[in-house]
Amino acid sequence: MQIGNFHHVTDKLCPRHQTYTWQSNDKVKAIDRKEPYYVEVCPVCVQEKIDKELTEITGEAVLNAELSQTYDLFERKSIITPKLQSASYKTFTVSGEIDKQAKDFGLWLNEYYFKNEGTGNAILQGRPGVGKSHLTLAIARKLNEDWKAIKKPKSVLFIPVNRLFQTIQASFNKSDGMSRDEMMKLLERVDYLFLDDLGKESTFGNHGNEASNWKQEFLYELLDMRGKTIINTNLNGEQLKKVYDPSLVSRIMDGVGKNIFVYPEHAEDRRKLPF
Ligand SMILES: [Zn+2]
Repeated sequence: MQIGNFHHVTDKLCPRHQTYTWQSNDKVKAIDRKEPYYVEVCPVCVQEKIDKELTEITGEAVLNAELSQTYDLFERKSIITPKLQSASYKTFTVSGEIDKQAKDFGLWLNEYYFKNEGTGNAILQGRPGVGKSHLTLAIARKLNEDWKAIKKPKSVLFIPVNRLFQTIQASFNKSDGMSRDEMMKLLERVDYLFLDDLGKESTFGNHGNEASNWKQEFLYELLDMRGKTIINTNLNGEQLKKVYDPSLVSRIMDGVGKNIFVYPEHAEDRRKLPF
């Protein structure tokens, strides 16, 4: 049987598809062959190969586009102070039982959010200087890497709360900084949001005042829209209740359950002065 002038159907079957193969009517020349030869193919095998390549190309493009919205977002949009630039599990030193417990909690939380695809918020609470920010950042980085490693990248952001509000405040008068709405849009869509040092933005430490209203409203609106927010704070439960409205405190505690680590009162200040 003739198909056009180029090839015909043979009486040989493709061993995989039980389809009759096609053979070129004329011999063709190929760079990697010495002699011209008849090309014989199974049409189903060819189609499968084309489909597979297309899927791979499209899949890669989708993944790349997704990565810029997800994995890369961490480095692009997180606010990480120079001091914490290298903070990860690798640089987390364990110099005592409390450090070990804190690190174990961090690794457990990584498993909870990654392997178990857990939901709800998480809290790390302790006095200033116990290493909360370092550990929080280590958790964030690992989560970002773990999801990427299995080609299901998720968006992860690390933001110090006081810097968040400074950025919004900067946009009040000037055109730089991110406006409140832009910031809200970004933060509410992120898969895993890490809020560093919640409470620092309040004037609690200085005057015992409530955090200002617009900040509380922002946090309430944000947490109300979100599922997985990992928060570290110097404030204990009683202090949280003094600084924030009860409705905000309940959003902070949303789904926390077992996802909470409280550094013991006597936890050593890792930034201890040498005198
Ligand atoms: Zn075939």
